[in-house]
Amino acid sequence: MVHVVLASSNPGKLREYREMAAGAGVALDLMPDFHKHPAFDESALTFAEIGAAKALHYSRFTDEIVLADDSGLVVPALGGAPGVRSARYAGPNATDERNNQKLLRDLEGREADQRRARFVCVTALARRSWALAVISDFAEGSILNAPRGTQGFGYDPLFFSPELGCTFAEAGPNEKNRHSHRGKAFAKIIALLTTPNFLVPS
Ligand code: IMP
Repeated sequence: MVHVVLASSNPGKLREYREMAAGAGVALDLMPDFHKHPAFDESALTFAEIGAAKALHYSRFTDEIVLADDSGLVVPALGGAPGVRSARYAGPNATDERNNQKLLRDLEGREADQRRARFVCVTALARRSWALAVISDFAEGSILNAPRGTQGFGYDPLFFSPELGCTFAEAGPNEKNRHSHRGKAFAKIIALLTTPNFLVPS
């Protein structure tokens, strides 16, 4: 069994990763004392820089393998927004609902092609300041005119996935994980972690 700690204090994220790791020989926990370590500065401009640097940053404070990620929604017609600012799109007091309302306002009057969107996730592994892997993946879809579904979080109710034939918020967690940016990136991370000799002793 490979043990990995998640650089996050978010139990929801841990649950999602554990569901995906179930039966794969990878055990996951939240990084102990996450908030006692110096906070990571997330002001970089790309998902890859943030995901990779976050894993490296937190790997300085533990001997365990650290998993970190950065993800968000990219709408090409909005110049890539919300992008790396997805969580705070509606401002400092942003909530999922406010972010979704702002996205609907910003896309008001826009037709199908302009509503194309992509969820992106960069997942990174590091151990003792050594980058082991940086993996990106994405899920293509479009932004509806009104929310649909109650599962999931964030922009899920507005994100229609043609592969699923529904929004991410209408899909069950297993269905979403099979097609989502995070699910696909993490599947590659699990494949790496369970490859013989991938983890050389250090
Ligand atoms: P972070 O990777 O935890 O920083 O997430 C950034 C933000 O992107 C979240 O707060 C959501 O607004 C959005 N986001 C990332 N992944 C998803 C997803 O799977 N569904 C819906 N929103 C997401």
